[in-house]
Amino acid sequence: MPQAPNVYDAEPIPESARTAIEHLLTSGDLFRYTAPGATPVSLLETEFADWIGSKSALAVSSCSAALFLALKALGLPRGARVLVPAFTFAAVPSSVVHADCVPVFAEVDDSYRIDLDDFSARMDAGVDAVLVSHMRGHTSDMDSIMNLADDADVPVIEDAAHSLGTRWHGRTIGTIGRVGCFSFQSYKLVNAGEGGILVSDDDELIAKAVIMSGAYEHNWKKHPVLQDHFQCWQNRLPLYNMRMNNLSAAIIRSQIPEIPRRAQRGRENHDHVAGLLNRSPYFIVPEPLGPEIRAPDSIQFNLINMTDGQVMAFLDQTATKGVPVQVFGLSKDNARAFWNWQFLDPLPDLPGTRAMLMRACDVRLPARLSGDMCRHIARCLVESAARVMETPATDHDHR
Ligand SMILES: *Cc1c(COP(=O)(O)O)cnc(C)c1O
Repeated sequence: MPQAPNVYDAEPIPESARTAIEHLLTSGDLFRYTAPGATPVSLLETEFADWIGSKSALAVSSCSAALFLALKALGLPRGARVLVPAFTFAAVPSSVVHADCVPVFAEVDDSYRIDLDDFSARMDAGVDAVLVSHMRGHTSDMDSIMNLADDADVPVIEDAAHSLGTRWHGRTIGTIGRVGCFSFQSYKLVNAGEGGILVSDDDELIAKAVIMSGAYEHNWKKHPVLQDHFQCWQNRLPLYNMRMNNLSAAIIRSQIPEIPRRAQRGRENHDHVAGLLNRSPYFIVPEPLGPEIRAPDSIQFNLINMTDGQVMAFLDQTATKGVPVQVFGLSKDNARAFWNWQFLDPLPDLPGTRAMLMRACDVRLPARLSGDMCRHIARCLVESAARVMETPATDHDHR
């Protein structure tokens, strides 16, 4: 059998980054505010805002920093209640805690999307902001969410860390709420090791976020955004210093032209594997929503009619074949399982999301994989499940 591909390997950084990096290494000019004119970071902000269709962008050190600054720039008071889907990465409720707010969780269903009945009930109970995490690039019904939030006059932040290139009714995800936040950490579509960016059409919000990101004194003059609001916030906001450096920006800029190709290849790979998995009676890959065009770099699917012992045996089988699968709720200390977020007191109780996490599998499928590699991964998954479910009872049933 051919060897399984390593799904954690990154793509090479485009050649065009080299000239820019060589220049930065020669000049030593790594800080975004040293040069008087445009720098790689400010150019990235202009290019990213244009690409995504937003008025302004602010590049920062991570998506978590962007989420934190978005919450602060919304001016939410201490103790404000922020509604977050219960299926997300631990850094997301952490950013809410960091901003002195209180996360409130909405159940997520077995299509990995926000359960709208539960969301609506939590809205009715009173929240001050909504932070929609498009977890693993799955878009919840943004039409209903925006309607409910608009009716309640509550701002929406989009955590689009893992959704770069996804479209909803043709619009780029991250531009639907008041603020959108993206990540350039290595496991996302654009890889700079670390980095984040926030986008918004709200000039005042951007001005506040720019200052708090660390545009001390009059460095805000070097931002490619409307200058009207800065004077009024000068010296009135804390400086959290979450800036991006020029090297990261050079690496990110070289990959912006790559986004459409990576999004399309990722979607083709995903849909190819989804088609093969859905032929097995032991898997269900949820369908995208009608208005959604996805840009996945991984696949999620649910295991059907398996006992805990059979799930563990399936994971053993796939690991032997060299295809790493995680079931979010079954790996110890998983950062996407809400019961592990013990920095929260009390821990939330969310039976629907818990049930989903106990059967939802996660496999990376980066855009660089070939059709053959995708078929190999799908075959390993299908054969592993068949082996576990169709061989007579063995000790796995008794674990
Ligand atoms: C990766 C990720 C984050 C965190 O991004 P960082 O840049 O590492 O802070 C937040 N939310 C989601 C959905 C993510 O996938």
